[in-house]
Amino acid sequence: MKKMRIKVITLFPEFIEHYLSFGIVKRAVAKKIVTFEAVQLRDFGLDARGTVDDRPYGGGLGMVLRPDVLYKAIKKTRGTSKKTRVIMLSPQGKQFKQKDAQRLAKYDQLIFVSGRYEGFDERVRSFVDEELSIGDYVLMGGELPALVISEAVLRMIPGVLGKLESGDAESFTESMLEYPQYTKPEVFEVGKKKMRVPKVLLTGHHGNVDQWRKDEAMKRTKKRRPDLLKK
Ligand code: SAM
Repeated sequence: MKKMRIKVITLFPEFIEHYLSFGIVKRAVAKKIVTFEAVQLRDFGLDARGTVDDRPYGGGLGMVLRPDVLYKAIKKTRGTSKKTRVIMLSPQGKQFKQKDAQRLAKYDQLIFVSGRYEGFDERVRSFVDEELSIGDYVLMGGELPALVISEAVLRMIPGVLGKLESGDAESFTESMLEYPQYTKPEVFEVGKKKMRVPKVLLTGHHGNVDQWRKDEAMKRTKKRRPDLLKK
């Protein structure tokens, strides 16, 4: 069985530890498909206070994480595992996509380097394997991005999702959005409005249902995310 080790270098390990106590991730950890480790960056700090940052050369507000501290932390965290990917989290990185989740799921160990404050000294870029962003906005730190990416990657690892949880035609799997889904009640009324489940889904005719789903997925993708179809 494939096993994945995920390590997050962070100033706030509690963020990561809290996340492990729920649902599918908790179960994957219990099944030993994945191990998570939050590595406290301050343990690699320069002095007894665990200093990890300093003021930017040239002036400016905020503090910048030091390259020497991060180098030590990454080297120790990497260990001897060969199939490791070290990922620096930054709004300036390449935007994380579903295909990156599939790609990263092939490694044995992922190390996320989470920034805070003004971010990283530029030289950190020279000793990580890649730099990823989760979108064009600026968050306080890299902990949530590390968890977002980890969760998308974990869904790709056999055994993490149960049969019922693994959608076979989920959004982005074939560069398309998922088709519309319905459950009970068959007719849902809000005020005078009656919203019905499309008839084809009630027929039990698998061929027609499949065709309807394909058509609807295409319509929805064309309308909402035409950019996906151009790829
Ligand atoms: N000064 C940096 C800049 O303008 O690029 C932003 C620093 S941000 C306040 C602090 C940290 O949060 C970053 O070093 C990064 O680790 C993380 N972060 C913030 N937004 C992110 C995003 N969209 N994707 C990935 N990481 C992000």
